[in-house]
Amino acid sequence: MEISWYGTAALCISHAGHKIIFDPFVSRNPNSPRISVQELAQMGDIFITHGHFDHTLDVPAVAALGKSKVFCSAETARQLIKRGAPAQQVVAINPGEIISNGPFTIRVLKGQHIRFDLKLMFQTLFNRRLVGHFREFVNIIRTLRNCPQGQVLVYEISWENTKVLHLGSLSLCADEEYPRGASVLCVPFQGRSDLSTYTLPFIEKLKPHSIFLHHFDDTFPPISSQVDCATFAALVRRLYPEITVIIPEFGVNYSIA
Ligand SMILES: [Zn+2]
Repeated sequence: MEISWYGTAALCISHAGHKIIFDPFVSRNPNSPRISVQELAQMGDIFITHGHFDHTLDVPAVAALGKSKVFCSAETARQLIKRGAPAQQVVAINPGEIISNGPFTIRVLKGQHIRFDLKLMFQTLFNRRLVGHFREFVNIIRTLRNCPQGQVLVYEISWENTKVLHLGSLSLCADEEYPRGASVLCVPFQGRSDLSTYTLPFIEKLKPHSIFLHHFDDTFPPISSQVDCATFAALVRRLYPEITVIIPEFGVNYSIA
C-alpha cells in the first residue's frame, strides 16, 4: 500500500495499481507544482472530506472527464451536481457506512472542522500579502458561497492489516470512535497559528505508527501560508520517538508498512 500527495489536501492511496484519491484540487497557486485534471480523471474513485473550495472546486471537472465515482456527504453531493458533476457518478454517503473499493475497505466516520484561531485571522487580514493577492482574495470569497463545508467526513482505509486514518480537516468529533494505532494518520497542517502544539492531543489520542502531513503548502494565497512542519516533526520526535513524521514531496510514493 502506498500514499502520495498532490498538493493541498489531495492524496492518492494505492495498492497493486488500484488508486483512490481524496480532495483533488488543482486550481492552485501557479507557482506550486500541479497535477492535471486529465491525470486525476484517470486515477480512480474520489472521496471528499468536506465541501470547502480547496477540497472540491475542481471535482466536477475531474468527474466529468472520466468515470470516477465521487463519494461525499449529501450536501456536498448536491453542490457538486449543481456545479456540473455528472449526477450518476456522485454517491452521497454517511458516517457508519463501509465501502469496498478494489482491495480497500473504507469506513466512513464523523469528522469535525478545525476552528481557525483569531491570531491567524489577524495575520491573514492585516498582511501585505493581501494587497499583492487581492484579486485571488476576492475570488476565494466569491467561491466560498458555492462551496459550503457540509458534513465533515473522516475515512479509515484498510487493506489487510494496514490502516490509514485520513483527516481532511484537523479536529475530531467527541462522539465518534476513531481507531488507535493506525499505520498512518494523515494530518492536514493548516488553519491555526499554534498548529504544532494544537496537533499533539490528537496524536496522543490516536497514537499512529506514522504521521503523513499534508495541506501545509501555500496553495491559495493570501488565505493559506507555507506552514513550518519541521518544528512539529522535532516535537513529535522528542515526545513520541516511536512515531515517524512524513513531510511528503509532491507526487512521490511513500510505502505504508
Ligand atoms: Zn475546510
